[in-house]
Amino acid sequence: MVALPEIGRRPTPAVTVGKVVIGGGAPVVVQSMTNTDTADVDRTLAQVVELAEAGSEIVRVTVNNLDAARAVPRLRERLDAAGHEVPLVGDFHYNGHRLLHEVPELAPALGKLRINPGNVGFAGKRDPQFEQMIEVALRHDRPVRIGVNWGSLDQDLVVRLMDANAASARPRTADEVMREALVRSALDSAAKAEALGLPPSHIVLSAKVSRVQDLVAVYRELARRGPYALHLGLTEAGLGIKGVAATSAALAILLQEGIGDTIRASLTPRPDEPRTNEVLLCRELLQALGLRAFAPQVTACPGCGRTTSTYFQSLADGIQGWLQAQMPVWRERYPGVETLKVAVMGCIVNGPGESRHADIGISLPGTGESPVAPVFIDGHKAHTLRGATIARDFQAIVERYVEQRFGGGA
Ligand code: SF4
Repeated sequence: MVALPEIGRRPTPAVTVGKVVIGGGAPVVVQSMTNTDTADVDRTLAQVVELAEAGSEIVRVTVNNLDAARAVPRLRERLDAAGHEVPLVGDFHYNGHRLLHEVPELAPALGKLRINPGNVGFAGKRDPQFEQMIEVALRHDRPVRIGVNWGSLDQDLVVRLMDANAASARPRTADEVMREALVRSALDSAAKAEALGLPPSHIVLSAKVSRVQDLVAVYRELARRGPYALHLGLTEAGLGIKGVAATSAALAILLQEGIGDTIRASLTPRPDEPRTNEVLLCRELLQALGLRAFAPQVTACPGCGRTTSTYFQSLADGIQGWLQAQMPVWRERYPGVETLKVAVMGCIVNGPGESRHADIGISLPGTGESPVAPVFIDGHKAHTLRGATIARDFQAIVERYVEQRFGGGA
């Protein structure tokens, strides 16, 4: 018997962001970030709603100036009025302490504050400005993400570690020192926040880099050396398939090790691509790893020389789209339907076998095969479809199955 690996989550304190819980054994949370001008409330509102409806459970917005700071409370009000509870995270760099002070309604409108220790302030101003932001978080009982980034690392710390490394008997590589600087920056800042009174249940850490192996090494260290909930993400993952592959590779390794309590995919959308792709990627990743179930899954074969048409690909695509379109209603009506597994296969070679492994599957005829499509339900052949209405008939069978299995109508 070959057992499946257990993906146990690394124990961390639970961090509450609005009504969402990060860590503490909660399911891994999907989050995203807007790319609109936050001061443009209409456009930002539209994108937050779009991201939330795609499945983003937390949405981060840039708070980079007074206009953006003043816009966030209005954004929150309008989200609440429209019934969207999705918590907002304020992303602060350089002037967060001042914006939080000058716009008192800002902090209450946020579910969490993101502070980048490398961009809090320079030289002697760094610690007081960091303290001011932590004090705001404490006053409003808000958690903080201490988010270190490879591209904006605390340069004083880097220089100190580089100097110490150069003087050591067994110096490490520059990359190793940089990775250590990232980990130290995050953990030292968390320790400072704790010293100011912020408990671990109000701290999430991240240390983002753009190379997969660096990310894995850095997060393993963060997980080993601190108790905090971790926000995972490969920064500047890139465009298209490259960004998807790099993000999936990095996050999958860590999630499989139980590391990571909330994730974001930092994809760069092409001008015609929706921002929601980063949310869909996170969901697909978590579902592929078996960590969460969001929507029924369709298994489809890639096709080969045994199929002369793309009929089964169209059917698989149509079924996947139809299943997703049903989800807003099905989620309420048929609890557990998100675990449904459907197979759409191209020929007899793997079709019947794969279809039997799914809850419901169809094996379409390949080239030269008899023009019939057996349908398997719960591992048994239940129907044989033929003719021009195969797609419609199969959809009706799936609908009946869902109703009987998840609607209590059996
Ligand atoms: S199931 Fe048939 S059509 Fe699909 S990839 Fe396998 S051999 Fe090719």
